[in-house]
Amino acid sequence: MAQLAVVGAGYVGLVTAACLAEIGHQVTCIEVDEGRLCRLRAGDLPIREPGLSQLVSKHTLDGNLRFTGEYAGIAAAGFVFIAVPTPSSKDGSADTSYVLQAVDSLIPHARPGSVIVIKSTVPVGTADKIAGLASILAAGMEVVSNPEFLRQGTAVQDFMAPDRVVIGASSPHEAARVADLYAALEAPIVAVDRRSAELAKYAANALLATRISFMNEISHIAAAVHADVDDVARIVGLDRRIGPAFLKAGLGWGGSCFPKDVLALSSVAANNGCRTPILQAVYEVNELQRELAAELLMDAVRAIRDPVVAILGLAFKPNTDDVRGSPALGIAQRLLAEGVIVRAHDPFALVNANRVLPGVDCRPDPYSALEGADALLLATEWEEYSALDWVLVRETMRGKTVLDGRNALNGVFLGELGFRYWSFGRATQNNGNGLAPKVHANGVTPHADENGASPKVHRNGVFPKMDMNGVVPKVHANGTHPSIREAGV
Ligand code: NAD
Repeated sequence: MAQLAVVGAGYVGLVTAACLAEIGHQVTCIEVDEGRLCRLRAGDLPIREPGLSQLVSKHTLDGNLRFTGEYAGIAAAGFVFIAVPTPSSKDGSADTSYVLQAVDSLIPHARPGSVIVIKSTVPVGTADKIAGLASILAAGMEVVSNPEFLRQGTAVQDFMAPDRVVIGASSPHEAARVADLYAALEAPIVAVDRRSAELAKYAANALLATRISFMNEISHIAAAVHADVDDVARIVGLDRRIGPAFLKAGLGWGGSCFPKDVLALSSVAANNGCRTPILQAVYEVNELQRELAAELLMDAVRAIRDPVVAILGLAFKPNTDDVRGSPALGIAQRLLAEGVIVRAHDPFALVNANRVLPGVDCRPDPYSALEGADALLLATEWEEYSALDWVLVRETMRGKTVLDGRNALNGVFLGELGFRYWSFGRATQNNGNGLAPKVHANGVTPHADENGASPKVHRNGVFPKMDMNGVVPKVHANGTHPSIREAGV
């Protein structure tokens, strides 16, 4: 058993603290947000993750996990994990001020010779920079990069059974000390230098985002050539060199990590003289999906007086209450700006969504959100939405447009029920008369108006940020994507 401290009790910090206690360590978790700290001490978790509350209550009871707002609480710790935010700065680079602040705060209380373990996703070179601080050198402390790869929604499971534990250290000895902490997990340990560990975290997230954007691009082609993107993804994913994960077409990726990490990686590249055309395209395709969804919904309701759109799902993905970077937010904002009444439901995320979307009428059950709706957007593929009573949905809604933003619903069935079913590149597009739409609008997801015809070409089928020659007008000299940030995504 080791004495450990974890700084930050968010999605990564709280899961890390609880899981480290579960594998036998004594953990002190430091959280500066007083409201969050009070809740944690009262046993009321500020975030929702399957299995987390059980671990937290088990280890607060057995004394292996405690919460404090005071850095003095780390005095006995041999290892201090940093799990504080690294949000996007205005220029797209990662803001490391929370990490540096945490390091500053912990140094006066740290045990000489202890190790700072950086779990936050930080720009390449951050751990080296911290290791070189005079105060760190004077305290004889070591700095190790240990990026976290857990996924929200399955965070506890991912921490307890990781694909690999990456340890970036300045020497094999330091790497081995940190590796020992994870011995109970029997996970593959990959020990590398600090910079490679930091870059690997960004590369992993950027590659996952790339796969989704790539398949979204394929979805437009599928729509244009009357193919089915789900079948294409299945076939491609059966190739063992490729694999099936992260090939689902739809509204695209969101969350607190992919958007900022793609931007931050571009920024790291630009600061080191490298261009990143792939990352730029990955981001732009993602933005296009949201714009396209908003335009399709506007097409469906524009002619209606006091139009109502219902959004099912506000979390950026199922099984989390996190709405940061969720496609649903940007689409809801765009609809509100166009004068649409937006009602929404989410099984977990209503409280968080309410904070950032005051104009949206958040309802406690999906049928209530669907009451009198002219169109429905499925924005998060919670299982319960597939299991809705669609006959009741048909009676509850005023209109019959369903935009399946996650290609998750049974489009054939919905078409048979008389819904006008739109998806992202699926062959089950349906205009409510049991007919597939006839016209494919320049490679953009086909959709049908009441007569089964595509009403409008969406921005000529080219990326919205490109000019008519398909050229991105702005040079992103600093490697960032200003257009996307301006859109507030
Ligand atoms: P979060 O916002 O959920 O939690 C961060 C917590 O740190 C908050 O509770 C905040 O109050 C606290 N905090 C901030 N400054 C502090 C300080 N000086 N001392 C003590 N507490 C402080 O963030 P998160 O989602 O857990 O992300 C943390 C880091 O982990 C980020 O760098 C992120 O990119 C990375 N990461 C996140 C995920 C994920 O799925 N969320 C996965 C892998 C890596």
